[in-house]
Amino acid sequence: MTQYRVGGYTKVEIKTNVREVEKVMSLRKLALATPLNVGGTTFNPEQLTVIGSIVEQGTSIEVTPFKQLYVLIDELNLTEAENKLASAGIIVLPAGFVTKNLQACNFCKGEEEAGLPFARRLDEVVSGLDVPTPLKIGYAGCALGTSEPLSKDISVVKMRDVYDIYIGGDVKGIKPVFAQLLLASISEERVIPVVQRLIAYYQTNAKGKEKFPKFITRIGFDKLREIVSA
Ligand code: SF4
Repeated sequence: MTQYRVGGYTKVEIKTNVREVEKVMSLRKLALATPLNVGGTTFNPEQLTVIGSIVEQGTSIEVTPFKQLYVLIDELNLTEAENKLASAGIIVLPAGFVTKNLQACNFCKGEEEAGLPFARRLDEVVSGLDVPTPLKIGYAGCALGTSEPLSKDISVVKMRDVYDIYIGGDVKGIKPVFAQLLLASISEERVIPVVQRLIAYYQTNAKGKEKFPKFITRIGFDKLREIVSA
């Protein structure tokens, strides 16, 4: 099996032996997610049936740490598969070196108080963008932060009517680093432009595949604060 990136997507080539005729099949790896909701990330039985019907038979469905399912689809059936997924209410994103869908909490305080409509807008804007290394963006509907916002590259935490933004979390390995406060008590209108500027600055200024926490350390919090506040 060969795996490589093409046109913003992860492509996989496998050799199959159909009736003793060997052929190379091009498969596209897609990341599937469901819209943010009260109660957390869920796939309903109908959605799972659709997913089962469009994946390449004989391949596995991977559950990622980003609350996504990775599936492999024959490129020849891609458009039809994407249409079926969209009709079933499933979000289709590229896999690999992109911003992941928003890693949000369960909105237990209710849609309004925990900011679900705003989190959905944020998710739409920041998911699936090409970046030097995969970027995890978190959201918590209150300071209890049960979605572990300090473990993410960028996190938005709703503090009643305003928002705090943290950056630089990296909890992989045995020397975890928690995200630090970049901006406190900013208005809802400012949040999306700030997150977009952070991503754009990372896209254009990272050195090769520099990880976001290392990038932040190199650039410095003060400089980043200046850039996102401009
Ligand atoms: S972060 Fe707050 S609103 Fe969100 S699930 Fe946890 S306790 Fe509930």
